[in-house]
Amino acid sequence: MKAVRVHNFGNTEVLKYEDITSLEPNENEARIKLEAIGVNFIDIYHRKGLYANKLPFILGMEGSGIVDKIGKKVSEFNVGDKVAYAMSLGSYAEYSIVPEWKLVKVPKNIDTKVAAASMLQGMTAHYLTHSAFPLKKGDTILLHAAAGGVGLLLIQMAKKLEASVIGTVSTEEKAKLAEEAGADNIILYEKKDFEQEVKNITNNKGVDVVYDSVGETTFNKSLNCLKTRGMLVSFGQSSGAIPKFDVSLLSEKGSLFLTRPTLSNYAANREELLLRANNIFSWISKKELKIRIHKTYPLSEAKKAHEELESRKSTGKILLEPNDS
Ligand code: NDP
Repeated sequence: MKAVRVHNFGNTEVLKYEDITSLEPNENEARIKLEAIGVNFIDIYHRKGLYANKLPFILGMEGSGIVDKIGKKVSEFNVGDKVAYAMSLGSYAEYSIVPEWKLVKVPKNIDTKVAAASMLQGMTAHYLTHSAFPLKKGDTILLHAAAGGVGLLLIQMAKKLEASVIGTVSTEEKAKLAEEAGADNIILYEKKDFEQEVKNITNNKGVDVVYDSVGETTFNKSLNCLKTRGMLVSFGQSSGAIPKFDVSLLSEKGSLFLTRPTLSNYAANREELLLRANNIFSWISKKELKIRIHKTYPLSEAKKAHEELESRKSTGKILLEPNDS
């Protein structure tokens, strides 16, 4: 089968589209014939070696397709089922092997592209708004990269929970998309000082929570945007790693809370995973959650997909699809 593998960590040149021997599922695994593959920022961290994997490896943490073979102990799925998954390595391929407990059935009315576009970023937006800092009516949030994959979904979930959303974005086009998704205020953070803007918008009160996936360029100012006892949810580093941090700053700036969560700890068991994924599919079915697919590239062009995500040009989701589909 065809797959995109990484043999050395590095820039997009290390992505190799090549023939590899097809894989067989173990007893608790299923083999999925992939139709759509999600591209996520974590794939860039894996490619660069920031999150280390044993070389060589097939990139990719998200996909959707049809069950093609099952292991002896698989009980919930049959060959032919339409499924999706996130947080299992190896999706940049025609087929992937996935542990049964990470698979979810995709409802009939949702196609595999939408399913692949909603699992990883959708479950992330879900745990951030419902578990890491459970939003309630009247909360005010600051969300960076509001027109990104996670961003557009998080805005919609925050509005469902009746929170007020201040979003940051880099361009007017992204501002429009974030507004359409429901953001109450938008800050063009490349042009304006977002800390000052947040103070203006909140009458110097600050926000209850900052969801910060940008990291290096936003982290310090994000802390300054919080109310007393507010929480910084630092969940990514799209701009680079966060500098070393002195915890006493948390008391100086108002007895703040800081958390650095990851999806694998918030979809840690079957029950939690199904709750989040089924919520998302049900909202999509009821048209309460819109999935924006930015672009779909052939699997052989994974390099272009990474370049687009890294260049900040994408809005919403980038997908790959196997070349023969
Ligand atoms: P996005 O679609 O949000 O793309 C990243 C966005 O970050 C860009 O579009 C850009 O928006 C912004 N950005 C700011 N500075 C930079 C920079 N120097 N280089 C690139 N982008 C920059 O990606 P995802 O939705 O896939 O992921 C968003 C973040 O969430 C990532 O940091 C990812 O690691 C994190 N994440 C964390 C998870 C967790 O559980 N902890 C799970 C899933 C994702 P703009 O142009 O508007 O500034």
